[in-house]
Parts: sequence; structure tokens; C-alpha cells
Amino acid sequence: PGAGKGTQAALIKEAYNIKHISTGDMFRKAISEKTPTGIEAKSYIDQGKLVPDSVTNKLVRERLSEKDCENGFLLDGYPRNLAQAEELDKILKDLGIKLDAVINVSVDDNFLIERITGRRTCTKCGASYHISFNKPKVEGICDDCKTPLISRVDDTKESYETRYNVYMTETKPVIEYYKNLGKLIEIDGSKSPEETLKVIENILGVNNG
Ligand code: ADP
Ligand code: ZN
Repeated sequence: PGAGKGTQAALIKEAYNIKHISTGDMFRKAISEKTPTGIEAKSYIDQGKLVPDSVTNKLVRERLSEKDCENGFLLDGYPRNLAQAEELDKILKDLGIKLDAVINVSVDDNFLIERITGRRTCTKCGASYHISFNKPKVEGICDDCKTPLISRVDDTKESYETRYNVYMTETKPVIEYYKNLGKLIEIDGSKSPEETLKVIENILGVNNG
């Protein structure tokens, strides 16, 4: 959390013209629309815990089955534990899709609190900004859709600590899983978003359509 994966995902989506599928954004949308998924997910998210796999896996399977994913997609924030990684294998197999690569964006622990607490998010398009490192053109307003920006309910120091612990115990083993499959690309996320994107493009190959 806070490594900049959402920011990179938004840039990669543009560069490669593929769908950006963020489970966090999908949950936030479901919460704002008060759908059954949103109602179930809310208490977990507010506390910084993972939403149960049964809910998350179903959401992802349904989304990846949609027509607009046929030309490729980038998953952001999923899989977040080993059970989800195994379920993703099944989903991709069922849909006849090959996984190209897994990108691990890593940063120093001491950057993270600052990134999270200074983060401002657009509730409409999911774009994220930072009060000092990535300011919107007009303070408090999304560059893309002009919606007022908010600080996420879970972007507090307390929730961050839970999310960090969840990351260490549940998400970190996923790195090893993809390393063993030879799919893992390790990226240093402490550079600017643009520099980080260049590194990713160099490894993946620049826009192959
Ligand atoms: P961040 O990585 O900055 O915390 P995300 O938007 O990726 O932000 O996730 C926000 C919250 O949404 C998580 O803390 C978790 O509660 C929930 N969430 C997102 N993706 C998943 C997932 N794959 N499995 C379970 N919960 C998830
Ligand atoms: Zn926006």
C-alpha cells in the first residue's frame, strides 16, 4: 500500500491502451453505490483488512469475463494473497488468457506513511494525487474529470498500519509465487511516476498495441 501501484497502473493503461482493473477502485465504487458487494466490503476496507476472498474472487472473475477485457488488461491490487493467486490461475485458464507479467513496485518503508497520508483520490475516476509529490493542476480538483478530491477513509495512520501488516503476512508471499513461475518483474518505486513508467516500458516493450 502506498508504493504507487495505482499511479503506475493508470500510466500503463494509457501507454498500452488496455483496461485497468483495480479491485480497490471497484470496491470504492460499489460502496458509493451501496451495492450488496459494497455493503459487505466496507467494514473490511475501512479497517484496512482484506475483503474476504469469496467476495473478491467473484468480482474479479465477473469483470475479466466481460468483453472489453478481451484485448488485455492490467490487474491492480489483485491477487493480494496466495489463495487469490491460485484462483486467478483458474480464472485465466477458464477464459483462455495467458498471464504476461507481474510487476512488483517496491519502496522504502519510511516513504510510505507520507505517501498514504498525503494522498488525495478522485472518487469518480479513481485518479490519485499527492499534496506534495503529485499535485493536481488546481488544488483539490481532479485534472481529468474536475471532481473534488478526497482523502480516503482508509488513508489514516491507524489503517495504514493494519494494511502494512496484512501486506507483510498475506501479500508478500505472492511475490515468491510469481518469481517461481518466472513472471516477476521487480521495479524500484522510489523514483518519479514518469521515470518508473519508463523502466516498466523498457522491460515490457514500448506500446505493442
Ligand atoms: P492500497 O493498496 O493503497 O491500500 P487499494 O485501492 O488497492 O489501495 O485497496 C484498498 C482496500 O481495498 C484494501 O485495503 C482492501 O481492504 C481492499 N482490497 C483491494 N483489493 C483487494 C483484494 N484483492 N483482496 C481483498 N481486499 C482488497
Ligand atoms: Zn477524476
